[in-house]
Amino acid sequence: MSLSTPSPLPPTFVEAAKDVLGTSGWSEDADALNAVSTPWRGLYAGETPFLAKPSSTEDTSALVRLCAAHGVAITPQGGNTGLVDAGTPHGEICVSMTRMQAVRAIDPFNNSLTIEAGAPLVAAQTAADEADRFFPLSLGSEGTATIGGLVSTNAGGVAVLRYGMMRDLLLGLEVVLPDGEIWDGLSGLRKNNTGYDLKHVFAGAEGTLGIITAATLKLFPKTARASAWITCNTAEDVVALLAHVRANVGDTVTSFEIIPANAIRMVQLDMPNVRDPNPSDAPWRVLCEVSMAREDQARDNLETALADALETGLAADAVIASSLSDASDFWTIRESIPLSKRAFGAAINHDVSVPVSRIPDFLKTTEKAVLEIDPSAEIVAFGHVGDGNLHYSACEPAEVENGVLMERAPDITAAVHARAMAHGGSISAEHGVGRLKRDELAEIRPKAATRAMRAIKQALDPQNIMNPGRVVSVD
Ligand SMILES: Cc1cc2nc3c(=O)[nH]c(=O)nc-3n(C[C@H](O)[C@H](O)[C@H](O)COP(=O)(O)OP(=O)(O)OC[C@H]3O[C@@H](n4cnc5c(N)ncnc54)[C@H](O)[C@@H]3O)c2cc1C
Repeated sequence: MSLSTPSPLPPTFVEAAKDVLGTSGWSEDADALNAVSTPWRGLYAGETPFLAKPSSTEDTSALVRLCAAHGVAITPQGGNTGLVDAGTPHGEICVSMTRMQAVRAIDPFNNSLTIEAGAPLVAAQTAADEADRFFPLSLGSEGTATIGGLVSTNAGGVAVLRYGMMRDLLLGLEVVLPDGEIWDGLSGLRKNNTGYDLKHVFAGAEGTLGIITAATLKLFPKTARASAWITCNTAEDVVALLAHVRANVGDTVTSFEIIPANAIRMVQLDMPNVRDPNPSDAPWRVLCEVSMAREDQARDNLETALADALETGLAADAVIASSLSDASDFWTIRESIPLSKRAFGAAINHDVSVPVSRIPDFLKTTEKAVLEIDPSAEIVAFGHVGDGNLHYSACEPAEVENGVLMERAPDITAAVHARAMAHGGSISAEHGVGRLKRDELAEIRPKAATRAMRAIKQALDPQNIMNPGRVVSVD
């Protein structure tokens, strides 16, 4: 059964919800409703009749019980930085978790941290740092993206190569289920074989199975980093360089990010003060980071690996950051690409992954296919090459008159996705499914997987009130 949110909401529901949430726990103000209905990219507009801002697990549970009783649909929301139209309400009430930010517990000897779902990622990183530990998840939106959103999208970022995605960093969860019951699965245990591992059902579920209210996360020893900005002549060299560096320094390679030369030009057009750390006509740069207990060890290992790579020609040139400020300059370029691309003009963006070994062929054949559709498109392929994850954009400068890029968007996306699949890849590497890729994925993934997902959704949320229409449709 599928319920759409009654519009307007039943007055008895609204009254009871306001009572449960208290005066600072809700809003019907048009600006506030508009803010939570507008996603980061602003590519589509949502709408919501009511914003709930619970401040505790108990309030969240009481609110969800009311929603279940009245058949009112919910969109859980964290920082609203998601990129697949999953956390923006489309008629549902919006349940913003941003008032729940407390660090509930930190156990340095157990290397674990329990933190509430509305805390931004930086809060987890800071809490770990203050306990002389390290929480490794790191991404461009870390000041705003929340723990609940990161778990719900199984976020990736720039340290996946070494530490894995958010799912791999999860020890336990507390979740309000679609009928309002609280599942207390917070636990610092690394071994706990007691049946289905429920936390993994909620990781990547994009709020369709319940509202996460807190998470227990893995911490790690602090490390010191050495960062290099490497110039490469071909994508084949980039892939071989990754294997070479890993052969030399093992799993201490934390980040291995690919940056095309045209992305640096876009960043510099947008931010004229940004300097290319090592200007060159070569088409590719790699931002490589190695982390070890001591900085001198990390630096020595990286230097040795790069010296060999320069000798064999895998690297055309390389500079190692001599200070934290140098390293931060490297990262400024990498992290500015999404925004500078927006300033440059129109862009059709994709989040794909292929096995690392197949990246060079993927890049060649996909560029050919896209340019056949729009010969004037500018391709910007950047990102987490160490994980086989590319953010693949076809761009068009703002000043182009009568450009055809946006008109051809469906064909371009079909071509990029078809090449990713043909290379044994995925059309959703780290950003998730949302409403954006739901129907396409229902066609692509094995039918048995879609049937199992629907069965899980229907078992946990028979009324279909929890973020309906995201990930998998049950209508
Ligand atoms: C500049 C920029 C850089 C980015 N870089 C990366 C990157 O490198 N890697 C990456 O993976 N992503 C990246 N993202 C995407 C985004 O930041 C992540 O998807 C992030 O996990 C979303 O977190 P959020 O709190 O903003 O969630 P929202 O956008 O608010 O919601 C995302 C999904 O999670 C659900 N949700 C949110 N909170 C809860 C909760 N408490 N319980 C249940 N469901 C919930 C929502 O319903 C929605 O389905 C980037 C985004 C931007 C804008």
